[in-house]
Amino acid sequence: MLDHPVASPTPSAGTAGTEPQTFTGNRGLAIEEMLIFEIGRDDTTGVDLPEPPRVVSRLGKLERAAPIGLPGLSEPEAVRHYVRLSQKNYGIDTGIFPLGSCTMKHNPRLNERMARLPGFGDIHPLQPLSTVAGAVALIAELSRWLSELTGMPAIAMTPKAGAHGELTGLMAIKAALGARGERRSVVLVPEPAHGTNPATAALLGYRVEALPARADGSVDVEEVRKRLSPDVAALMLTNPNTCGLFERDVVAIAEAVHAAGAYFYADGANFNAIVGKVRPGDLGVDAMHINLHKTFSTPHGGGGPGAGPVALSASLAPFMPVPYVMGSDAVGLPSHYREHPGPGSQSLGRICAFHGQMGMFVRALAYMLSHGVDGMRQASEDAVLNANYIRASLSDLMSPAFGERPCMHEALFDDSWLEGTGITTLDFAKAMTDEGFHPMTVYFPLVVHGAMLIEPTESESKQSLDQFIASLRGLAKAAKSGDVARFKDAPHLAPRRRLDETKAAREPRLRWTPSGPHRQAAE
Ligand SMILES: *Cc1c(COP(=O)(O)O)cnc(C)c1O
Repeated sequence: MLDHPVASPTPSAGTAGTEPQTFTGNRGLAIEEMLIFEIGRDDTTGVDLPEPPRVVSRLGKLERAAPIGLPGLSEPEAVRHYVRLSQKNYGIDTGIFPLGSCTMKHNPRLNERMARLPGFGDIHPLQPLSTVAGAVALIAELSRWLSELTGMPAIAMTPKAGAHGELTGLMAIKAALGARGERRSVVLVPEPAHGTNPATAALLGYRVEALPARADGSVDVEEVRKRLSPDVAALMLTNPNTCGLFERDVVAIAEAVHAAGAYFYADGANFNAIVGKVRPGDLGVDAMHINLHKTFSTPHGGGGPGAGPVALSASLAPFMPVPYVMGSDAVGLPSHYREHPGPGSQSLGRICAFHGQMGMFVRALAYMLSHGVDGMRQASEDAVLNANYIRASLSDLMSPAFGERPCMHEALFDDSWLEGTGITTLDFAKAMTDEGFHPMTVYFPLVVHGAMLIEPTESESKQSLDQFIASLRGLAKAAKSGDVARFKDAPHLAPRRRLDETKAAREPRLRWTPSGPHRQAAE
């Protein structure tokens, strides 16, 4: 353990100012952590196993001649490495996570407890159906709740994320058009839409036509009418839209779309703003995905599992992917179950193995049952209230994108208030990191210059919002008073400074190569 190198990577912060340089690269209790390959040795292991008995190798010349190069660490070294890395992370359990269009709300621990019940947590997708009747009944029950909340008759539960739900919904639309003997080739997508909308349409071979939005990001029904033609398969619309505003013309838009023989796809990622208040089915929606990991508080981010069930209107219900469960009889068992498209079925088939994300289903239903419909309605109201509190509390210093107009669940600012300061939206976001906050969503939606999209969700207390607001006000004043260095060099206090994210994405270095001669254990 002697010659473990001292941290060599660029010391994170504190190079400016009066802070001392430490010998370790650590800063107080913030430990500088190297790659596991740098701290591990390839000739040792954390477990002490007896020599294997002599075996006759049957691998012949395929036998490995040199060590595989995996880092060997003792158990405490391995534990420390991963715990330290986890401490560099920021999550909803650490503090406010105001990332717009993401609904980063608290994941109630009750839900976690339910998801770990052995009857849900330990089952296997290949178990015979008769041994998992309770899990199947839970899927049916959750789909009944989703059906109630959306006002739509059928819920395809299997899609595994919002984008996957979009794909499933558009596949159902394509299948429905096919069943009518039509091949339409265009999908209309408003300019401020989430990138997954045009990507999904393009993946299915549709030509995406961008629908210009009004200044406030909303869609003009007249513009929709102009673009509709017998070649338009669907319109994809987000409501509330990605600018955080409710689409007021949504019913007229749905009617126009239907009159042209097309389908109305709603991106339901922002459902958290309207649960218990508005049923999308009543607005004329034909298909809408629901991000359980946003609206219904199941964990997301960091590559964790999502779940994106799709609500389908009566006209699209026959095209439901399999497997599905629906309805329940007197004792709560599903009355309708289909594993394979039967003869004559119009089902679009299977879009993923098995039944979807069981753990997410359990969490979402636990959230619904513990809140009740009144609680979910209140959560939506509080989410909208919190966003408006932030908008109103910052709008004298920062520029709200749509003036005094109240927002839904997220507050959107543009960068006009930074004009002349030499500070950009990105600089401002990086300075928020120094304050201990995850930044808001920046530069999205694209229709707003230098956008800053803040979604506090209902989980934040007034105290937490007030602290967030006070920090942003402090930063905004610093920006306006010309304290440019605070922003241009930010973050000063994070484990790493600014990373070249574009370069990292374009030229990923996925292989670690040792810089010096290979180290041996110092035992
Ligand atoms: C999050 C989001 C999506 C995509 O959902 P994923 O679960 O990340 O695939 C689509 N549209 C909008 C508006 C979103 O916010």
